Amino acid sequence: MAVLLCSTSESVDDWAEALRSLSGIDLRVWPDAGDLTEIDYAIVAHPPLGVLPSLPNLKAVQSLWAGIEHITCDKDLDPTVPILRMIDPGLTGGMTEYVTMHAQRYHMLAHEFDLQQQQGNWQPRTPPLASERKVGVLGLGVLGSDAAKRMADLGFQVHGWSRRPKTLDGVTCHHGDDGLFDLLEQVEILICLLPRTPETENLIDSTTLNAMPEGACIINAGRGELIVDEDLIAALDSGHIAGATLDVFREEPLPADHPYWTHPRVTVTPHIASVTRISTALPVVEQNLKRLMSGEKAEDLPGLVDRKAGY
Ligand code: NAP
Repeated sequence: MAVLLCSTSESVDDWAEALRSLSGIDLRVWPDAGDLTEIDYAIVAHPPLGVLPSLPNLKAVQSLWAGIEHITCDKDLDPTVPILRMIDPGLTGGMTEYVTMHAQRYHMLAHEFDLQQQQGNWQPRTPPLASERKVGVLGLGVLGSDAAKRMADLGFQVHGWSRRPKTLDGVTCHHGDDGLFDLLEQVEILICLLPRTPETENLIDSTTLNAMPEGACIINAGRGELIVDEDLIAALDSGHIAGATLDVFREEPLPADHPYWTHPRVTVTPHIASVTRISTALPVVEQNLKRLMSGEKAEDLPGLVDRKAGY
C-alpha cells in the first residue's frame, strides 16, 4: 500500500521516521511522491493546494489535525474522497488541560487580580464557588464534550451547545439558534471549541457578546474565524467582556501590530492549545492504516468528516 506523507506544518522528518517503523507501507514523502497513480492514501497536515487532487487513485486522506478546512479548501479535491480527521487521546487530553486551566483562572478572578497588581491595588474580592459558576462550551464534539465533562467533574454548572440535540452526563445541553442564546444569557465563562464552517464563522459578534452577562470571559481554541475581532475588542474595551484567552486567529502568526497583543484583558497563546503529538497520534494512524489495508472502508473508521456539514 503506497502512502504519501505531505505536511507543510507538522514536523515532516519526525513523522516520516515514525511512519517508516510501521510494516506493510510503501511510504513516500512529498515532494518525492514517485508515480502518483500508485498512491492509495495520504497523511497530511496543511498540504499545498493541488497535491491531493493530483493523486488519481486516492482512497482516503488521514489528517494529522482535528480541523480539516486546510484540506477541504482545495476545491479541486474530489468531494467523494473520504477524509479522516485526527482523534487521539493526546489531542483531546491536551485541549481539556488548556481550557480547564484558563477557565479556572477566570473563575478565580486571576484576570482581575493581574490588573490590580499592575496598579499596585490591594482590593480583596471573593470568587464564587465552582458550584455557583456557570460555564458554557460551544461545540460538544470530541474536544468540547471532554472539556465539558471535566468542568462538570470540577463542580461547575456546565452548559454545552451543539448543532444537533445531545445528551451528556452532568452537562445541560442546548442546540440550534435558540439554544445558543439560552446558553449565552447564563454563562460567565465561555469556551469555544467549534470547527470553522460557514455557519460558525463570525458567530461571536456584538449580538452574541451582548447576550452574555456583564463581566463574562471567553476562551477560544476553536478557530479564529469564529470571532469578529472588532466586536470582541469593543466589548473588552467597554468592560462588558472582562477577559479573553485566544489561541487561534484569522491570521497566524498574529500580526505584530494586532491590538490583541497589547490589550490588558487579552491572553494570546500561539495556537498551542492542543497539538498532535506523535506519541499518541501514531497509534491512531497505524490502526486506521491497518484497517484500511485489511479491506475496511474509510467510511467506517473513526473521525470520518461529513463533507456536507464541513467538519
Ligand atoms: P468535532 O468532534 O467535529 O465536534 C464539533 C462540534 O461542533 C460538534 O459538537 C458539532 O455539533 C458542533 N458544531 C458544528 N457546527 C455547529 C453549528 N453550526 N452549530 C452548533 N454546533 C456546531 O470537532 P473536535 O474534534 O471537537 O474539534 C473542534 C475544533 O477544535 C476543530 O475543528 C478545530 O478547529 C479546533 N482545534 C483547535 C486546536 C488548537 O490547538 N487550538 C486543536 C485541535 C482542534 P454536532 O455534535 O451536532 O455535530
